[in-house]
Amino acid sequence: MEYIDFLAELHLDAVRQGPGSSECTLRALTHVPELTADSLIVDIGCGTGASTDVLASNTHANILAIDFLPNFLEKLKTRISDTEYNHRIVTSVQDMANLELPKASIDLIWSEGAIYNIGFENGLRKWKPFMKKNAHIALSEIVWLSDDRPKEINDYWKSNYSEISTVDEKIRVLERLGFELLDYFTLPEHCWWDNYYRPLQNRIKEYKNKYVDKPEILEFLSLEEIEIELYQKYKSYYSYAFFIARNHSNSK
Ligand code: SAH
Repeated sequence: MEYIDFLAELHLDAVRQGPGSSECTLRALTHVPELTADSLIVDIGCGTGASTDVLASNTHANILAIDFLPNFLEKLKTRISDTEYNHRIVTSVQDMANLELPKASIDLIWSEGAIYNIGFENGLRKWKPFMKKNAHIALSEIVWLSDDRPKEINDYWKSNYSEISTVDEKIRVLERLGFELLDYFTLPEHCWWDNYYRPLQNRIKEYKNKYVDKPEILEFLSLEEIEIELYQKYKSYYSYAFFIARNHSNSK
């Protein structure tokens, strides 16, 4: 089995594929000016659509939900199938590094726990041309909560995601690229456990039995366990932050 297929299988049945909650999605949405039935939201790296669902049920906008894993998008379609707003959601299998959209067409980019896949700065640079002038972006990204931290956790995250930095550094990147920050907040601890790590821990247990004779899968599962253990140990040093910003000028 390919690594990516296994990763998809491991996360497919979860409510979310990264830290977050409906409350935090809604909190970020309160900073975005009213959207209309003519507005286009693009939810990039939407996974199985936890945020897409909240955005559709709390706005009148049309939503394009993008992910590169078709199975996740199928799950999203099942999730919204019985809602009265499902006609406003369209899914599209796309690579977030090469969006296939008209330039200057988006009113709001939404992206929870996903931009790190192509890097925060690179992602913002790539997505900005698809946003209308004065359009908004709301995205979550892993950040250090303090300037200093123990070497073990610093080295772990630096080697897994070299762009991890403090909130201030992220804000500087946003401003340099021509975004005006409207607000930010860090995700509370329960956002990591409730919809993400705790369900993941249960699946890891189950999969250790299911794949008992597949050493490469067991190895992968133990890496996931290490990530969770480190979070438990060092959670006061990092979290996700949600940034809400307006696209006001060209990149510098
Ligand atoms: N926003 C969702 C999922 C976060 S996990 C949530 O918060 O629950 C990150 C998502 O990004 C996954 O669904 C993964 O399939 C998707 N992804 C990773 N790299 C991608 C790429 N290059 N293009 C499109 N989607 C990608």
